[in-house]
Amino acid sequence: MEKDNVCINCYNQVDKVAKILKLGQAELDILTIPKRIFTFSYPVRLDSGDIRYFTGYRVQFNDARGPTKGGIRFHPEVNLEEIKTLAFLMTLKCAVVNLPYGGAKGGITINPGKFSEAELERISRGYIRETYNFIGPSIDIPAPDVNTDAKIMAWMLDEYEKLEGRHTPSAITGKPIALLGSKARDFSTSMGGAYVLQEFAETLGMKPKNTSVAVQGFGNVGMNIARILNEWGYKVIAVSDSKSGIYNPKGLNIKEVIAHKEKTGRLAKFKGAKEISNEELLELKTDVLVPAALEDQITKKNAGKIKAKLILEMANRPITPEADEILLDKHIFIVPDILANAGGVVVSYFEWVQNSQNYYWSEKVVLERLKTYMTDAVKELSKVCTDFKCDMRASLYINAVKKILEAERLRGNLK
Ligand code: NAD
Repeated sequence: MEKDNVCINCYNQVDKVAKILKLGQAELDILTIPKRIFTFSYPVRLDSGDIRYFTGYRVQFNDARGPTKGGIRFHPEVNLEEIKTLAFLMTLKCAVVNLPYGGAKGGITINPGKFSEAELERISRGYIRETYNFIGPSIDIPAPDVNTDAKIMAWMLDEYEKLEGRHTPSAITGKPIALLGSKARDFSTSMGGAYVLQEFAETLGMKPKNTSVAVQGFGNVGMNIARILNEWGYKVIAVSDSKSGIYNPKGLNIKEVIAHKEKTGRLAKFKGAKEISNEELLELKTDVLVPAALEDQITKKNAGKIKAKLILEMANRPITPEADEILLDKHIFIVPDILANAGGVVVSYFEWVQNSQNYYWSEKVVLERLKTYMTDAVKELSKVCTDFKCDMRASLYINAVKKILEAERLRGNLK
């Protein structure tokens, strides 16, 4: 096997579980070598008339449990190793919440803020033309991720359907509702996280009105979870985006913060709040810390300074493996990403089901079903934690890995 194909980060991530489950080489290969990797470059005409080449990636990590599923991100730091790791996490996530999917991820190395809307549309359509032959409702279903949204999914679906020559709404999820997206998809990741937090908060005796929350990242996920928790009575004391953070120990009114950000384009200068840096936000004295921005925000450098009692990982991989060990030693309760942020892919699954059946559900039905999927996953996790006597991340990995390997075994791919 070519070394280039291996997902290096995945080795570190499955190491602990491999020892607990006594996995052999064939099983380790399945968990660390993506099934298909695509890297491509394609030309796009800019508004100036110049032509520029963009590099895109799609990794379909494992499809033993169903078609692969995962978002597409636009970010200057997108690289193949990162996409492999995120595709691996999607594979585990879909197994954790019992969706009939494998895992994938994609991205383009781009700073989207530097391009016009018309250029972004051509770049998005180009991504679909390059991947068209390898994606589809029963192969691999893309969705939004960092810096991609419902509008971009609409362009991508339109391009897919032009190539296909027929309507195929189930090819892409996270679409606008007017283009057959699902109700509640836009805030489903955050709502799923809030349902999960509620389950653990109850167990830990945390009542919303006595529980302070700090949220890093104020995009789709961070803004919506701050809003939902504030509506449920939690005291959201700090929020931040890539430029700055704001803090008020008495609590922020998140609806007003959203209105301020919409009006001024930034969080800074929100009345009655102190400005803080992202580093300061992470180290605040708070009951709950919600990293909802990017990877590697809590590292061995700042893990010792974290004072939160519970960390709800809404971003993917916000805590490095070294920092994870430090936080566990400090008895900080960590709700891992593959459970905490799975609400988005659950409602993406609902969208795919609705598109396939041509039958659309109310927001109430979507949220009821989302709650069931999330709370069932928490119950399943509690059982694995008890059976294997290990931390939550290890238990989630054990649970997911067992399901993936069982599917591989039933297909005859393992002894
Ligand atoms: P987004 O682009 O809408 O928002 C990202 C936010 O993070 C922005 O507010 C940005 O200003 C902020 N940010 C960027 N760099 C930062 C930094 N260094 N410090 C503080 N803030 C910073 O993206 P999103 O969709 O909200 O995704 C956020 C995270 O959640 C990502 O890790 C993503 O993979 C994960 N996630 C998203 C979804 C989804 O449905 N959107 C689902 C599962 C996981």
